[in-house]
Amino acid sequence: MQMEIANQMQAEEALRDRERELSLLVDMVPSHLWRLTPEGEPTFFNRRMTDFLGLDVPDTDKPGMSRLDVLISTVLHPQDAVEFGETLRNSLATGVPFSLKYRLRRTDGLYRWMSSRAEPLRDHTGRIVQWYGLCHDIDDLVTAQEALHDRERELSLLVDMVPSNLWRLTPQGETTLVNKRMADFLGMDLDDTQQLAVVFDTIFHPDDAGEVEAVLGSCLRTGERFSMKYRLRRSDGVYRWMSGRAEPLRDEDGNIVQWFGLCHDIDDQMHAEDALRRAYDKLAQATQAASLAELSASIAHEVNQPLAAIVANSHACYRWLSATPPNVERAKITAERITRDANSAADVVSRVRALFRRTPHARSPEDVNRLTSEVCQLMVDEAAAKNVRIRTELAPDLPSVALDRVQIQQVLVNLIRNGVEAIEAADDSQHVLQILSCFDGPDAVRIEVRDDGTGFKDAERVFEPFFTTKPHGMGMGLAICRSIIESHGGRLWMANNEMRGATVAFKLPLAASETP
Ligand code: ADP
Repeated sequence: MQMEIANQMQAEEALRDRERELSLLVDMVPSHLWRLTPEGEPTFFNRRMTDFLGLDVPDTDKPGMSRLDVLISTVLHPQDAVEFGETLRNSLATGVPFSLKYRLRRTDGLYRWMSSRAEPLRDHTGRIVQWYGLCHDIDDLVTAQEALHDRERELSLLVDMVPSNLWRLTPQGETTLVNKRMADFLGMDLDDTQQLAVVFDTIFHPDDAGEVEAVLGSCLRTGERFSMKYRLRRSDGVYRWMSGRAEPLRDEDGNIVQWFGLCHDIDDQMHAEDALRRAYDKLAQATQAASLAELSASIAHEVNQPLAAIVANSHACYRWLSATPPNVERAKITAERITRDANSAADVVSRVRALFRRTPHARSPEDVNRLTSEVCQLMVDEAAAKNVRIRTELAPDLPSVALDRVQIQQVLVNLIRNGVEAIEAADDSQHVLQILSCFDGPDAVRIEVRDDGTGFKDAERVFEPFFTTKPHGMGMGLAICRSIIESHGGRLWMANNEMRGATVAFKLPLAASETP
């Protein structure tokens, strides 16, 4: 009997230990635990919950109100109270587990987001005897998520506002996103991702589509960055030139997960370059025409042939007339030949003059710096192709000079080209061509083209027509330049630089003067 009592006490002690342990556990759980009657009346809050709320179950006793209503009206955020009440009452009525996110007021008055669940406990007949609830603080998570959403919204706004077209591709090349600007350009619905895949097959200019497909395909295979110019069809059907680029985004193992592309409209720029190229061609034509005019002077030697014939025929004529008897008939024929040859000599002269007249002397006041810059711009590609950079140092506030634009442009083109070729031919050049403008005394401006090329090897002969040291040179450039500058009342000269290379310079008087 004593043994039995001892055993029972031991068992009760063990039970109490277990109960203490359980109650400790319930209080230590880092979440809120609560218990409700089947009608929804709170009967227990764990320590953590009472600490958080600053109230315990007995504090919810108020005359004329259920505990649940007191709880709802005191600790739930006013905006969540109704939903909380309805959802919980629905669970109580139907037995469906309760699950909801809501804001709960902490004892310091601050509301924090909670994620809560409650499940019913049933007896063996299936009747609900209790509800047990668990609720944990997700406020930090919600705040972080909100910040993330804000950032996402901000980023997506940024993507849409970027003044360029943006797009995203899968590693297989399927378009999955375009920004608003691009959607507007293509005239499509931003959210219609199905349309995206279809549209991208039809937006490239038919002449470019094949190449784009080939280049992009190869980039997608190799992971190399994509960069290309192509025409895209705008919503109004007009094709515009774009400069497109795309880069792969890789995961930490180096696998491509996305491609991001950017393309911007370079249509206006392409047209400007076209216009520049046309202007350049025109200039080249003008240069050629001027060379021809100059060359035509050399064909004046044709004049020598009829002159020689005239001299020979005059002698013959003299002999026929001096013969005894004079042979008048033969003399007449010879005199006719003289007339014919004299006419053909005159023809040659007028042909040459006509050629010269083709260069009009249209003088207008021009900004020499602007003219120089324009020519430099025209020549920049040609120079770059030979790895030469053109650097200008133009004196500000130079007055305008009355000149023939095309001719002076032609001079500059010639000098720049010569400089670039001299640099190209030298071994130790810095590959920079300098162009300076400045006053030359009070009433003239000077332009200098300075290179660090080979320098002049035979300086005295460079103005001789057809003198050239280049395999395909014509040897007329400097002679033409000098005659153009002199026809403007100016002077052109050149000198080897002290260290390396040469400088060719010309000056133009400010007062318009013209020599025929
Ligand atoms: P081309 O360029 O057709 O040879 P040019 O009359 O312009 O005809 O030039 C004649 C020659 O003068 C060139 O062949 C070259 O030997 C020399 N020359 C011209 N400019 C330079 C320069 N900047 N540096 C060195 N030599 C030059």
